[in-house]
Amino acid sequence: MSLRLFDHHIHSERSDGTVSLADRARSVAVRPHGISDHYPWRDKMRNDDDVLRYLDDAATLGLRVGLEYDLGVAPPLLASTRRSLHYLIGAVHQLQVDGVRYGYDVAGQFLKGRLGGKPFPDHERWSADEPLRRRLLERTLEVVREGVLEVGIDILGHPTFTPLQALGDPEASYPVEWQERLIELCVANDVAIEVNESYGVPHTAFLVRARRAGARFSVGSDTHFALRPLTKTAEMIAAADLPHERFLAGKRVRTPV
Ligand SMILES: [Zn+2]
Ligand SMILES: [Zn+2]
Repeated sequence: MSLRLFDHHIHSERSDGTVSLADRARSVAVRPHGISDHYPWRDKMRNDDDVLRYLDDAATLGLRVGLEYDLGVAPPLLASTRRSLHYLIGAVHQLQVDGVRYGYDVAGQFLKGRLGGKPFPDHERWSADEPLRRRLLERTLEVVREGVLEVGIDILGHPTFTPLQALGDPEASYPVEWQERLIELCVANDVAIEVNESYGVPHTAFLVRARRAGARFSVGSDTHFALRPLTKTAEMIAAADLPHERFLAGKRVRTPV
């Protein structure tokens, strides 16, 4: 059975994807999806003007238009720009902890199976440093809280994607009380928790906790290439028994900040 839930998280060549907006507009017939490129992205998505031009170009083609707002990093957008989008995904791709920047790229490549089966290169460093892991998790909550309360994100993209996810046992890496605080932050503010196909996060126990807490959810293939079936997503939804009516359908439900 193919999943017919709305896919909010899709990239195009307007940031780091390989597919044009016009081709993305055509694949909506295959299954319902929007478009949500990175903000900021190098010389392509730098400011309000770039975002509004993107919104115009994509909406003219009939696409629902969001952004993947880089939490903790993105230069602020005007409230009017954020409100004019159909939805806003917020996601963390790097984190500054005690003045040191920790990039997530290698962990991401590992989780996407792009390291040719090699082990996660930073495994030793992260598993040996419990205080650093704890600070990274606390900092994550701070940055997400800012995204929820000040940026007004509608969806938390790949919610448990950090280098700790690449250590192999998310129930060990993410203390239950941390998971519960992250979920509560989303539930209290009507922010949807994304089920992310590319990274395969969050894990089942997290999704079950979120369902029990009354969370909303959102599908995100996070594809940068051609549209592929949401195989992993369908399995994750089934394993955690997530009700389809709790999933967003291409538009925001919370009042924009
Ligand atoms: Zn992302
Ligand atoms: Zn993405």
